[in-house]
Amino acid sequence: MQLDAKIPGGSLSEKWDRHRFELKLVNPANKRKFDIIVVGTGLAGGSASASLAELGYNVKTFCIQDSPRRAHSIAAQGGINAAKNYTNEGDSIWRLFYDTIKGGDFRSREANVYRLAQLSNNIIDQCVAQGVPFARDYGGLLANRSFGGAQVQRTFYSRGQTGQQLLLGAYSALMRQVAAGKVKMFPRREMLDLVIIDEQARGVVVRNLITGEIEAHAADAVVLATGGYGNVYYLSTMAMASNVSASYRVFKKGAFFANPCFIQIHPTCIPVHGTYQSKLTLMSESLRNDGRVWVPKKPGDKHPPRQIPESERDYFLENKYPSFGNLVPRDVASRNAKEQCDMGKGVGETGFAVYLDFEDAIKRDGKDVIAQKYGNLFQMYEKITADNPYETPMMIYPAVHYTMGGLWVDYNLMSTIDGLFVMGEANFSDHGANRLGASALMQGLADGYFIIPYTIGGYLVGSELQDITTDHPSFKESIHEANSRIKKLLSINGKRTVDDFHKELGHIIWEYCGMTRNDEGLKKAQRLIRNLREEFWGNVIVPGSKEEFNQSLERAGRVADFLEFGELMIIDALERKESCGGHFNEAYQTEENEAKRDDENFCHVSAWEFVEEDKKPVFHKESLVFENVELTQRSYK
Ligand SMILES: Cc1cc2nc3c(=O)[nH]c(=O)nc-3n(C[C@H](O)[C@H](O)[C@H](O)COP(=O)(O)OP(=O)(O)OC[C@H]3O[C@@H](n4cnc5c(N)ncnc54)[C@H](O)[C@@H]3O)c2cc1C
Repeated sequence: MQLDAKIPGGSLSEKWDRHRFELKLVNPANKRKFDIIVVGTGLAGGSASASLAELGYNVKTFCIQDSPRRAHSIAAQGGINAAKNYTNEGDSIWRLFYDTIKGGDFRSREANVYRLAQLSNNIIDQCVAQGVPFARDYGGLLANRSFGGAQVQRTFYSRGQTGQQLLLGAYSALMRQVAAGKVKMFPRREMLDLVIIDEQARGVVVRNLITGEIEAHAADAVVLATGGYGNVYYLSTMAMASNVSASYRVFKKGAFFANPCFIQIHPTCIPVHGTYQSKLTLMSESLRNDGRVWVPKKPGDKHPPRQIPESERDYFLENKYPSFGNLVPRDVASRNAKEQCDMGKGVGETGFAVYLDFEDAIKRDGKDVIAQKYGNLFQMYEKITADNPYETPMMIYPAVHYTMGGLWVDYNLMSTIDGLFVMGEANFSDHGANRLGASALMQGLADGYFIIPYTIGGYLVGSELQDITTDHPSFKESIHEANSRIKKLLSINGKRTVDDFHKELGHIIWEYCGMTRNDEGLKKAQRLIRNLREEFWGNVIVPGSKEEFNQSLERAGRVADFLEFGELMIIDALERKESCGGHFNEAYQTEENEAKRDDENFCHVSAWEFVEEDKKPVFHKESLVFENVELTQRSYK
C-alpha cells in the first residue's frame, strides 16, 4: 500500500483554506442523517464531539472514566501555545511553525504543522468565548509565559491547571449537546474492537465496565481520541487509565502505527522514590521560566543545597545552552540531566535527581509573585515530598510523559482504514521526534474544534455507505472475539499479578528503549519482552468474574496489549538508524553528544502494518518533504 498523506497543493499558508474550500460540504439538513462515534473525551474527543454535534451530526461518545471531564487531559498543567504575539516580541504563525518543526527535529510534516500554528489563534478565541479563565496581565489582556524551545512568550495558561480549565470549557460545550439530544454519552465503557464492513470503519464493540456487558454500536464513521501510550513504561506521568488498547486493536485491524518509538521524557518530574510506586508526578515545564537547574560541581557532594556555595554549583543548562538556558526543549534537558547524574553529580538519596531552584526568582520578584504563578505546583510538590520549595530547591528527574508516535493519519486525520479518524495524542502527527511544551493541548483542540468538523464531512459525502445495523455478522464476530479473549484471561489462573507483569515490562522498556538506546540493548529487550509475553499468557492471575466491575480484568486486557505493543516500539527503534529528538541511539551522536540525524536515509515517517501474530510487521515509509524550511542540526546554544 502506498501511503498518501493527501497534502493539498498551493503555498504553505494557503493550503488549509484551499483544502476547506475544496472539501465537499454536507448540507445542514443532511448532517442529521449521519451517526458518528467518538471514543475519548479528553481535549481532542471532547472538543470534537461538541463541534460535530453542534454542526448537526448524531454523536455517540465513549470514555473509560465515570465522567468525560475526568479524562487525562485534566492533568495538563503549564499551558497552551498560540501565535497571538500579545507580548510584542515578534511572534508570528511562521515562528510558531518553525519552532515546532525544529523542536520535532525535522521529523513532522510541514503542512500539518503550519496548519496547527494557524489554528492556534482560533483556539484561544474559542476558549475565551467559552469562559476559560486564562491568566491576565494587570491591564486585563491575556498573559503569556515561556515554554521550552521558544524565545518568545506565547504560552497561555490558567495557573498550573490549564488542562483542567480547557477541559471544563470543552466539557460544557459537550454537555450542552448532551442536553440538546445530539450527543449520547456512554461513560464507563472501554472500546475493545473496531468493526469494519466493506473496508470501512462502521462501529465499535465496548465493554460496560460496571456490568461487564459487551455492547455493539454502529455508525457511519469512527473517531478515536484515546490518548497516548506512555504507560507502557508502567511508571509515567500519565493517568493510570491511559493505555494503548484502542490504538493497538485498530492497528491489528489494518490501521498503520507510525513512529511508535518516539516518546517524550519530561525533564522535570518528581524522582522515583520507591519500588512500590505506581505513578510519577510532573512538575510543569513552566517552572523553568523562573527555576534554575543545577547540580554540585563536585561528584558525590552530599552537602545540603543551601550549603553549597555559588562557585561550586554547575548551572549546566545555562552554561551549555546560553541562548535558551533552562528552557531548552525537553529531550535536550532530559538527556543533560541524565548525563550529570551518570557522572555522579546527581543529588538526593538515589543520586538520580538535579535541583530546580527558585531562590533567585524569589529574591527578585518576591514570594507572592512566585506563589501566584506556581502556587498549586509548589503545594503539590510539598505534599508529595514534604519539602518546601520556597525554601529548598525542588529535586527533579526525567520521566515518561507523552508519546509522539501514534496511529498514522493523513492531512484529513484519517487513518489507513477508511472512515477511521484519529486525533490528539493518539495520532502521530505534528510533533515529529520531540514535542515542544504547551503544544499537545494546542494540537488536541485544533484537531477537535477546527479540523475534524470539516474533514469528516468530506469523507461522509464522498463515500458510499451501505445501511447497516449491529445485527451485521461483523459485529457478531467482534463480540465473539472480545468475549473469547476475556474468557481466556480469566481462565489462566496463574501466580503472577497483572501489575507484576506490567512493572517488569515497564522496567525492560525504560532500561533499553528509554532516554538512550543502543542496538544491543534493543535486541535484548525484544527477547525479554517475548519471554514475558509468553509467561503472561501462562501464568497471570486475574481474579473475579466478567459480569461485574473488575479492574484486574480491565488492566489485564491493557497490559496484554502493552506486551505486544512494547515489541513494536523496539522494532521501530531498531529500524531507525539515526538519533532524532526523543529517539537517541548512542551510536549516532555529535561530538557534543547531541542527537545526530541522518536526513539522507531517515527523513521519513515509519509506518507499521500488522500482518499476523508473532510476525514482524511490514514497514512503510512516508517521505517527509521540506520545501519551506532548511534542515539544520538543531542548536539551542
Ligand atoms: C501531567 C501532565 C501535564 C501536561 N501538561 C501539558 C501542558 O501544560 N500543555 C500541553 O500542551 N500538554 C500537556 N500535557 C500533555 C497533554 O495533557 C495530553 O497530550 C493531552 O491532554 C491528550 O489529550 P487527548 O484528548 O488526546 O487524550 P486524553 O486526555 O488522554 O483522553 C483520552 C480519552 O480516551 C478515553 N479512552 C482511552 N482508551 C479508551 C478505550 N479503549 N475505550 C474508551 N475510551 C478510551 C479516556 O477515557 C479519555 O476520555 C501534559 C501531560 C501530562 C501527563
